[in-house]
Amino acid sequence: MDRPLVCGACLLALAAQAQPFQLPTANHALFEKGGEERFFVGTAGKPWVTGTFGCVRSGGWQMHEGLDIRCLQRGRQGEPTDPVLATADGAVAYISTRPSLSNYGNYLVLRHEVAGLEIYSLYAHLHEVRPGLKVGQAVKAGEPVAVMGRTANTRESISKDRAYVHFELNLLVNDRFASWYNKTFAGQRNDHGEWNGQNLLGIDPRLILLGQHEEGARFSLLRFLQNQTELCRVLVRKTDFPWVKRYVPLVRPSPRAQREGIAGYEIALNFNGVAFELIPRAAAEIKGKAKFQLLSVNEAEYHKNPARRLVVKRGNRWELARHGLNLLEMLTY
Ligand SMILES: [Zn+2]
Repeated sequence: MDRPLVCGACLLALAAQAQPFQLPTANHALFEKGGEERFFVGTAGKPWVTGTFGCVRSGGWQMHEGLDIRCLQRGRQGEPTDPVLATADGAVAYISTRPSLSNYGNYLVLRHEVAGLEIYSLYAHLHEVRPGLKVGQAVKAGEPVAVMGRTANTRESISKDRAYVHFELNLLVNDRFASWYNKTFAGQRNDHGEWNGQNLLGIDPRLILLGQHEEGARFSLLRFLQNQTELCRVLVRKTDFPWVKRYVPLVRPSPRAQREGIAGYEIALNFNGVAFELIPRAAAEIKGKAKFQLLSVNEAEYHKNPARRLVVKRGNRWELARHGLNLLEMLTY
């Protein structure tokens, strides 16, 4: 009889490999039926949904770009003590230990490479980042990297009973962000360089974690991104910007532009501004001279998820709103 080619433990390891993202604390109630109350922390006095990702605050007009995951473990003073764990294999990208400089309080950013895509996880309101952890240092999925806390620079502090870690999964918009910011917002402080929250575009960690949980090895992060609901489609007369190099798997082949030369990109944006499909266009395929053109808007999606205010309807015409133009400037800088 043939021996099995792969042992059980190796199969488990392979499955883990196919599921790069893990929960960032020991709280696994996300995977339990009806476990939402025990997993998410809502804003003060509001239901748990306000602790999920998306247009979940201020009647849908305020975006929450991560998950607020409830504390499980407390010290003698009732302070949260949960270890915060790296969500995937990766390396330390940024550590901010000056809580007064951010509404994230103390926060940590890790860089991951998943299916050829650079993903950045972020952990906020930390009590402390693991002593000795340095930028560039490699970390393993599940490795403790910090301790949960309640740090923030907001006027309203996080109460002990609401203690949580704010967890994000992001794509990085532009590694020249700091330069763009200085030029665009002259005189305004940017304490975190390219690790400013504006430069990180969140994707929904809940959908990714649940997708992995349900689909197992069949889950594909690339497919998850490619299947985002389109908010709008724009055309940019720019040919060389970091996103097209960093997120090559999101760029669609385009024989004509390949043949005649790329003069711009048609880009599909989701409600949060994530450019999830980019199609190179030849000069002959581009009408109009404007640097940014709005090609179409999915009105249903706009009404469902309006918080980012990327587009606006004036009369019966849709236009790129100030936030949308800003995002495109930042994306293509
Ligand atoms: Zn949060």
